[in-house]
Amino acid sequence: MLSTLASHPCTNRPSLPFPLRLSPPPFVPLSRHRLPLHSCHSCHASPSSLPNSSASLSLSQSNSKPHPPPPPPTTLKIAIIGFGNFGQFLAKYFSQQGHTILAHSRTDYSSIANSLDNTIFFKDPHDLCESHPDVVLLCTSILSAEKVLRSIPIQRLRRSTLFVDVLSVKEFPRSIFLERLPPDFDIICTHPMFGPESGKYGWNGLPFVYEKVRIGDSHERVSRCEAFLNIFKKEGCRMIDMSCKEHDEIAAESQFLTHTVGRVLAEMRLKPNPDDSMGYDTLFQLIENTCSDSFELYYGLFMYNKNSTDLLDRIYAAYEEVKKDLRRMVQGILRRRLFGTTGVGELEDPAARCEAFLESFNKEMVDLDENATGVHFVALTIGMILAKLGLKPTSIATKGYETLLKLVEDISSESFDLYIALFMHIKNSNELLDQLDISLAKVRTELYGRLHDILRRQLFDQPGIISNGRTRM
Ligand code: NAP
Repeated sequence: MLSTLASHPCTNRPSLPFPLRLSPPPFVPLSRHRLPLHSCHSCHASPSSLPNSSASLSLSQSNSKPHPPPPPPTTLKIAIIGFGNFGQFLAKYFSQQGHTILAHSRTDYSSIANSLDNTIFFKDPHDLCESHPDVVLLCTSILSAEKVLRSIPIQRLRRSTLFVDVLSVKEFPRSIFLERLPPDFDIICTHPMFGPESGKYGWNGLPFVYEKVRIGDSHERVSRCEAFLNIFKKEGCRMIDMSCKEHDEIAAESQFLTHTVGRVLAEMRLKPNPDDSMGYDTLFQLIENTCSDSFELYYGLFMYNKNSTDLLDRIYAAYEEVKKDLRRMVQGILRRRLFGTTGVGELEDPAARCEAFLESFNKEMVDLDENATGVHFVALTIGMILAKLGLKPTSIATKGYETLLKLVEDISSESFDLYIALFMHIKNSNELLDQLDISLAKVRTELYGRLHDILRRQLFDQPGIISNGRTRM
């Protein structure tokens, strides 16, 4: 009895030596066998968080004056499950705000955790859960999320733990949380709509989308939820309370499109101009932002957006149309030169107007930098494709999507005549169009190749593993 008491998590939990930098092994975990499967109710934030407990009844009966609610916690103990690129990025900000980070991942990131303040890495998720974090933040890839969630020994957590995810798609984590977590656990689904690249100079003004899926009504639970959201408020994020369903309707397509354009452009290996007078630095930022994210993330956006295959087809079709428009116009100009006027009035004949523009363009632009005009031409081509797709502004745009919208805007202010003029002016413009074709095909093949691979593995290596229509990794 005595030994059981001595090892009780409330009485004998080793305190973490923060803010010291820790070297592994960080601390001796409690024996998991001595802990009850459902941790003791006295570990919970307060008796009032247990709506039916006798403790809460007797407290409210014996005190005539109600106690003022305790202030919300200023620091939290946050477990980050999935300590890759994004998990580490979040941990830096959390720890700078004084929160304690308990990290766990498939890979051993002990040394990275040691380099951060208030951060400790747990190789064993049982040890992490026995440290009773206030918040468990799921930060794994979209494709591994369900498997990772199933592997967390939630029976070792406090019964009222808050679960949060940061996956770039939202309905999927919401449904696996509701399906897998006991009803006592609180749930917030979030999407910080920025990453290590786009948020490297701070989070001020960047969108943070969240849905409070399930928060118990006790004061402690409400204030813990607020304390967590406050982390992002304090950094200046634009806080957007939005349902997961609405998020996916608005953002799934725009995110997948942004990443596709970034990856296709990266495949083309365009060179940025040191002296970028045309303002295409954002285009190169888009390439950097999307390609510094893992292919896994991109693939997750592909898998969990039901319109992604259709969108890929539409991009192809839009590109074919742009090329057709271009060739039709070039042929029109040539025919005019060969056969004279078409009989249509000069002003109504687009080929005549375009030819006149070409002449003045060629006089003015003789010494344009070849690389810069190439980038301009590719940017206009992408803008033409996006305009044909009917891109629309959304209330939750990432910086990348804003760049795409800007390209479409440029198209509407710059005439098609300029596009033709650039096409004619640049020696290798046909080559650039071919490169764009090849890059699009390469990205599409990579996506479908991966899809084929996963399905084959599931069908032939582990038949019967596909359940609920979900693809498991
Ligand atoms: P990611 O490639 O989507 O995820 C990498 C993380 O998933 C790593 O922690 C990795 O663990 C883990 N992981 C991958 N496959 C796994 C498996 N089979 N089993 C167990 N763990 C696995 O890249 P990320 O950028 O770090 O993104 C993490 C999450 O944040 C994603 O859900 C993403 O949608 C979301 N998010 C990312 C951004 C961004 O800009 N990067 C922005 C908002 C939201 P190991 O490293 O230990 O292998």
